[in-house]
Amino acid sequence: MANKVLIVEDERAIVEILKFNLVREGYETLEALDGETGLELGRTADPDLILLDVMLPKLGGFEICRQLRDEGSAVPIIMLTAREEENDKVFGLEAGADDYITKPFSMRELLARVKANIRRRSLDGGPAVSGTGLVLDEDNYTATRDGAPVELTQKEFDLLRFLMQSPDKVFSREELMEKVWNYGYFGDMRTVDVTIRRLREKIEDDPGKPRHILTKRGVGYYFAR
Ligand code: CA
Repeated sequence: MANKVLIVEDERAIVEILKFNLVREGYETLEALDGETGLELGRTADPDLILLDVMLPKLGGFEICRQLRDEGSAVPIIMLTAREEENDKVFGLEAGADDYITKPFSMRELLARVKANIRRRSLDGGPAVSGTGLVLDEDNYTATRDGAPVELTQKEFDLLRFLMQSPDKVFSREELMEKVWNYGYFGDMRTVDVTIRRLREKIEDDPGKPRHILTKRGVGYYFAR
């Protein structure tokens, strides 16, 4: 079954070129030319990934992202940000986006990111991974903490699972980018840092003094057994 990509973008020319290329790669596409329609389709159309512009009529991209996350949606979201707006990258990640790509983008890079951010459905459900009150269920992609469910986005889940699979082993941000985000990455590493911070806010009693996901200064991050 084809993966469905929701394109939320008000520049019709960009929508058309995205649509053309995504369809050629075998994806199904849905388009929204304003923010309200984008949020509505994000809620109801069950997309496998959302390409989300920042500046949109009616409702902005950050707000759409935040609302979907607040409602518990785990759909992968890639923000389309303007290159000159350096802050947009971090705002998008803080709002719960998984990744961003700056305009103007190369179509090859965008397609690579779409592919990398859509969950590998063929991934076999392994046994639950557990540690210090946290349990990850790979069959259902759910996390529970001391018996209570925790809402994680797909990338947060992937990152936590990756760290938990090798407790006490320290991974550099570059390694995490490559293993968890699935592509050689030549941008900055804030994507990793922000996702770590969001994970801590969800699973740590005191995110400022984490007990599970720890920083090895100057080296990287690890899951403490
Ligand atoms: Ca726009």
